[in-house]
Amino acid sequence: TTSASDISRDQSAKLFEKAKQYFPGGVNSPVRAFKSVYGTPLFIERGDKAHLWDADSNEFIDFCCSWGPLILGHNTPEIREAVSAQLGKGLSFGAPTALENDLAELILSNNKKIEKIRFVSSGTEAVMSAIRLARGYTKRDKIVKFEGCYHGHSDSLLVKAGSGLVTFGETSSAGVPKAFADETIVIALNDKAALEQVFTDFKDQIAAVIIEGVPANNGLLIQDKDYIHFLRDITKANGSLLIMDEVITGFRLGFEGASKYYDIQPDIITYGKIIGGGMPVGAYGASKELMACISPDGAVYQAGTLSGNPVAMAAGIAALNLLAQPGFYEKLEQTTQDFVAELRAFIEEKGYEVHLTTIGSIFWFAFSSNPKIQRADEIDPASMEKYKVMHRELLNRGIYFGPSGYEVGFISAAHTEEDLKTTIKAIKEALDIVFQ
Ligand code: PMP
Repeated sequence: TTSASDISRDQSAKLFEKAKQYFPGGVNSPVRAFKSVYGTPLFIERGDKAHLWDADSNEFIDFCCSWGPLILGHNTPEIREAVSAQLGKGLSFGAPTALENDLAELILSNNKKIEKIRFVSSGTEAVMSAIRLARGYTKRDKIVKFEGCYHGHSDSLLVKAGSGLVTFGETSSAGVPKAFADETIVIALNDKAALEQVFTDFKDQIAAVIIEGVPANNGLLIQDKDYIHFLRDITKANGSLLIMDEVITGFRLGFEGASKYYDIQPDIITYGKIIGGGMPVGAYGASKELMACISPDGAVYQAGTLSGNPVAMAAGIAALNLLAQPGFYEKLEQTTQDFVAELRAFIEEKGYEVHLTTIGSIFWFAFSSNPKIQRADEIDPASMEKYKVMHRELLNRGIYFGPSGYEVGFISAAHTEEDLKTTIKAIKEALDIVFQ
């Protein structure tokens, strides 16, 4: 196999030069700058079903899917029509609407893990609010997070592990006060001893432990069920809340997300991405008792001008109505399993040192000899060079993956058999080049 010739990026490059005059790094979210992969970032013009077109008219099959929200692909007619219908009625009122009730009802009647919900406008906001709720309810300040989990960019969560097994975190961004990092303890995933240690060292001080439903922002680090149950039990025994951040897994692994997969009841769950059908939405939910702490009922303040935005609600309702159809998730997961199985067979036959991890309709290429990576420190940063080669080969073959080897891929209901066949062929060729 020989490398495919590079696609034209002339228009994207021009747009990027212009964008650099306006935005830091030319982008409005850092990973979009293509710092970890080859070439200038692609400026996207439009999407339809599982396909994307960039400013140079290159066409791609999209596995980034806007980082997860687009479980139905691009330009879904039902969502487009629902949004269009709302456009003529108004874009924002900052007042209650029946649409909020409709989306809440659709969520709560299909998701028994939460009793009440509050809509916000992003995943970051959902998590930030959930942390405040946990602190307000428990009257404790410390939170525990895991190395390898991303929860958005709020101050309390831009914290990375210190040097010991259980230490105060260190800020992972300039501008986060040390005082914030001192309230966040960061430990390794899938490590019971670290959890026991943290509750011994900080007994009665921990408001909550927060974990991603299935950690999917730093590779796909599927946790043992036994470990998640241990986490549930130890938090409960110590009067701390368990926050499950289901911004990616919520409505991706089914309406009840990872909580159902692990069969646990978290105290607070955060959502985002899919519930907005592609519009900016986040949410957090919990029991009635916990949610009674939120203003205006309770003393934990949280608000938003655009919260429950009618256009976003309309998109979310249309999307979730499609996801609620019988068999939707089963079919999508089967499609994903077939896709992964064919690639795994190829990888095994060739003896390539790469493992495909998958859950639901999420997949991740781990360039490692370790078939079961479950902690951030098991990922070798050097392996990202291989991803970079694969990414370039794939783009040149019309396949759009996330621009970093730490990112997972998503399969949507819009990916056709033919899309996946084309993709499998391209991935095989790309892997042959990576390992030649
Ligand atoms: N939590 C998780 C698990 C996420 O994956 C993300 C975004 N990737 C966030 C929170 C933050 O969401 P947003 O980017 O919408 O602020």
